[in-house]
Amino acid sequence: MRCFLGLTATATRATANSVAEHLGIAHDAGAVIRGGAVPPNLFLSVSCDTDRTQALLQLLQGRRFSQCDSIIIYCTRREQTEKLASTLRTCLQSTRLASGWNGQDEPREEEEEDETGKKKKKTKGKGKKKSSKAAVPKWDAECYHAGLTAAQRRRVQKRFMAGQLRIVVATVAFGMGLDKSDVRAIIHYNLPRSFESYVQEIGRAGRDGLPSHCHVFLDPEGKDMSELRRHVYANTVDRSAIKKLVKRAFPRCECKKLHEQLGNANRHKDNELLDLDEACNDALDSNLEAELQAVELQHQKDVDARVQELRDNKVNTGETERFDSTLKLCTDPSENSNFAKSNSLDSVKRSVESESINESPTDAQTFCVDFKSDSIEHADRQQDQQSTQENSHRVCGGHEIAMVTDSIVQELDLREESIATLLCYLELHPRRWVEVLQPVKSTCTIKFYGGYPQLRGVAQKIPPIAAAISLNTTTATGFKKSSTLTFPVVELADKMGWDLAPVCRELRALQWNTSLALDNSLSNMGQSGILVEFSDLSMHHRAPGDLSDSERDSVCDFLEDRIQAEERSQLQQLQFVYDSLKGVSCSEFWQCADAVDEEADKQLKQLVRSYFEDSNDKTKEELAALAKARKRAKSIPSSITRDDHVNWDIVARDIRALLGVHHDHSFTGRAVARIFHGIDSPCYPAEVWGRDRRFWRKHLDVEFNSLRKFATQELIRFR
Ligand SMILES: [Zn+2]
Repeated sequence: MRCFLGLTATATRATANSVAEHLGIAHDAGAVIRGGAVPPNLFLSVSCDTDRTQALLQLLQGRRFSQCDSIIIYCTRREQTEKLASTLRTCLQSTRLASGWNGQDEPREEEEEDETGKKKKKTKGKGKKKSSKAAVPKWDAECYHAGLTAAQRRRVQKRFMAGQLRIVVATVAFGMGLDKSDVRAIIHYNLPRSFESYVQEIGRAGRDGLPSHCHVFLDPEGKDMSELRRHVYANTVDRSAIKKLVKRAFPRCECKKLHEQLGNANRHKDNELLDLDEACNDALDSNLEAELQAVELQHQKDVDARVQELRDNKVNTGETERFDSTLKLCTDPSENSNFAKSNSLDSVKRSVESESINESPTDAQTFCVDFKSDSIEHADRQQDQQSTQENSHRVCGGHEIAMVTDSIVQELDLREESIATLLCYLELHPRRWVEVLQPVKSTCTIKFYGGYPQLRGVAQKIPPIAAAISLNTTTATGFKKSSTLTFPVVELADKMGWDLAPVCRELRALQWNTSLALDNSLSNMGQSGILVEFSDLSMHHRAPGDLSDSERDSVCDFLEDRIQAEERSQLQQLQFVYDSLKGVSCSEFWQCADAVDEEADKQLKQLVRSYFEDSNDKTKEELAALAKARKRAKSIPSSITRDDHVNWDIVARDIRALLGVHHDHSFTGRAVARIFHGIDSPCYPAEVWGRDRRFWRKHLDVEFNSLRKFATQELIRFR
């Protein structure tokens, strides 16, 4: 790759630097081009009103917003969007009638002059031009959130895009990919969760370059803050869940043992596949072994040819050295196991494949990277050397692992995105603990219409089927002589030392392999009488299986610190956004309802600019602090101050009541805290648990981590 373009509308300098670092771009390369964070045609204001709904209604009728055709109002909670949209519909409807607004019948010019007279600024001229084409939209408002049906959402979006709907009251779900250049106003009814989201959301207004207005309502009591903290806590995890994940992500393998056995003399004995003969003793006969070896050999040839091809293609680049060393490794006679061979070859192929995938750019606007290919190769080689040194004691070449998404999500009580993020952390670690791969359907089910005799016949010809039988004989349920064969296909490919793709291809091809049909009428129709299906969408990665216990612990420590650092820095960010906005806010909306406070607007833009220019990585700082603390005390210091205002007796009573009602559940402290904070999780979804008002969102005023710790103590006491 010679050129790489990365784009984003909202990256702090710290984030951009971290992206550049992972891509191997030197800091001083001048590769990062930045634009201003807030476009000059947006006018920003903030107010801190006690009655926000009233304030919003009147703000909309003020000079700034009454002239805006398309307005998006952002709320944090779905229920709030619904409530607010209906309030706006009712209240503004009567306002319009009272003030003589005649909706679509009346042309805009007259209306504007009635409402705002001569004081109006630049927008007026443009407004006139437009209004000659279209009538003034009614004060109509609808809500939009992820809880609506797809049809409902489409309808709202369509009406808004067509200019038939003036106000959309939405959660942040609205606006992603929205391509409407004349959105005139963005109002944050609740606190934005970060400056990144703030800039992204206000950036949906005024894309046509015309003046547009943005306003934030701050909650003087700070309830918005605790609402947003819930989103942060939704992604944090207990040590026990991390341990479970590490166990599932790095299943122990036999490589070390095999390697020792191989080293001991039995070099001609290949790998586990040879146990097949023993495993399927009476089901299969011995010529299978020879067949398997023949197929393996062919596969090996294919791979060799491919590597040769790659070498030829790459000969002019700095990559050659890398391929050479890998090739040496593969052809080294001391590494005589097929298993080790194909694994290292696979990793060569994979590294090439993944490089080409990385080319697709992400969508966005202002941050641009361009760099020379040698810098990335250099960094790549460095990283390779580093991980080779650190992993030099490793015998295991890594295995492909599939974790069925639904079951791992339930097992860890953690959303898929959160698990994917944890795997990403492991991949970005200097030791590259895992390599994340594309999701796959990991269960293969094959039905043989010719029954068991057909299955048996096919197993003698097709290695993956034989291997699948072998795999099934080792499971708890054992292999039964039936007409259906079900097996985990990623595990199978790994056991065979094959790549996943050719295994799947070969399995799929069974359906049309007429030579396998027992019935001539089927084969005449081009069918084999075999049905192949893949199911169970799974997360997919590659990881070594010979981690020592201390390595496993350090992986857990790393993840725990990373999660904690993320939680802390996000909470700090939240406080920072609140404090910053508070610093430039008017005490009441009317101070900025008719005209923008230019000084405050300037200050806020300056704040945003300096936020994005900041090159200190907050998460990194937190991470360093945690690492220090871990060295000193072996335990992470608590940032929790015990709230004195909390009546812990009531909390304890509610915990006991919860356990009493749901005695069939084994709660963790975190699960209890999540329920009392109304935080949705895979095992305790809001749709089900949110209905029980006795517990859901019951203790919002108690700090989450204090609640979690208290609940854990109570659970132990109660058992
Ligand atoms: Zn292994």
